[in-house]
Amino acid sequence: MDYATLLAESRHMLPEIKKLRRSLHRIPEVGNHLPKTRAAVLEALEGLPLEIHLHETTSGIAAVLDGDRPGPTIVLRGDMDGLAMPEDTGLDFASEHAGHMHACGHDLHTSMLIGAARMLSARQPELSGKVLFMFQPGEEGHFGARYMLDEGLLDQVDPSPTRAFAIHVTSLHAAGTVHLKPGPYMAAADKVVVTVHGKGGHASAPWNAVDPIPVAAEIITASEVALTRTVDVFDPAVLTFAQMTAGTAYNVIPATATLAGTTRTVSEERRDRLHAMIEQIVAGISSAHGVTATVEIERGYPVTVNDDAVAAEVTQIAADLLGPDQVVQAPNPIMGAEDWSYVLQRVPGVMVFLGSCPTDLEPGSAPVNHSNLVRFDEDSMAAGIALHAAVALDFLS
Ligand SMILES: [Zn+2]
Ligand SMILES: [Zn+2]
Repeated sequence: MDYATLLAESRHMLPEIKKLRRSLHRIPEVGNHLPKTRAAVLEALEGLPLEIHLHETTSGIAAVLDGDRPGPTIVLRGDMDGLAMPEDTGLDFASEHAGHMHACGHDLHTSMLIGAARMLSARQPELSGKVLFMFQPGEEGHFGARYMLDEGLLDQVDPSPTRAFAIHVTSLHAAGTVHLKPGPYMAAADKVVVTVHGKGGHASAPWNAVDPIPVAAEIITASEVALTRTVDVFDPAVLTFAQMTAGTAYNVIPATATLAGTTRTVSEERRDRLHAMIEQIVAGISSAHGVTATVEIERGYPVTVNDDAVAAEVTQIAADLLGPDQVVQAPNPIMGAEDWSYVLQRVPGVMVFLGSCPTDLEPGSAPVNHSNLVRFDEDSMAAGIALHAAVALDFLS
């Protein structure tokens, strides 16, 4: 395949794609309903030979490109949502929606996918099979991908996809570099809330009350110790209690104390065992102190698992397209989470990270994704567009 042409074409379309990205950057929307973003995406796809399915439970868009020859289907994803946070970058195309920001680079993802849709549409006669362009809302904790799957995303194209590919930008890495690994690449992220029920009273006479605060403190230290003693370091886990709530006055023993935190794991087995460990410790410590305590676990996104064979193929494609020195095998999983995991549970595929650190900053010290100051290198989108197209063309040729 002529990768040099793909790259030249994606560089050629870059000015238009940057313009599109900046227009999306100005209007970040949060959650599963993104009316302005959806309208902008539809406008940008206008005139392309795509069959468009507008999802009803969310602002998701499934756009199908049917190649002239029969063959399998690949799904390519771009997520479209922003975050509820202020933007302080000072960019001249900064957010015009107060309190909302495209701080995870999903505006770049959407723009790259539109670029790929244009590039692949121009190659419709060469395609043996179909491309499903998945424009999804609600990645940032709103289960947008799962809603799209529940609405029949994978049945909206025949044959159903047997290959899946997504790109996430990151300012952690040098612009234009591609990072991936086979197997688990992102964590399962769950929320844990522990509530200790004591009995309120006067701070001067704790023996007449049941103080929940020392019990909550002991639960924190005991669970952190247990974590280091029970978790195989080669199947890691993170437990962070990031929120403690108890008491209203310095001289009143409160009736309850609440801890809220998150668990991160990269295997389903570890995930279940860690939750069981927390429940065991909370039950044991509260019983030792004669109080009751409850544990609520809210399961978030599952582990994002890259398919081994597809990861090897994409590594080769990226190396041929961008040069072997631009492709990095990630040494470890990342403990963040992604709802692309739900697609990868059903369709063999991968997620890769695309380095997008601005060239005037140093990777490692530049503001990171989700920072109010994060900026992304827009030129790296050329690599992303070409990589989307190359992965699809490789699968459909
Ligand atoms: Zn994010
Ligand atoms: Zn993201």
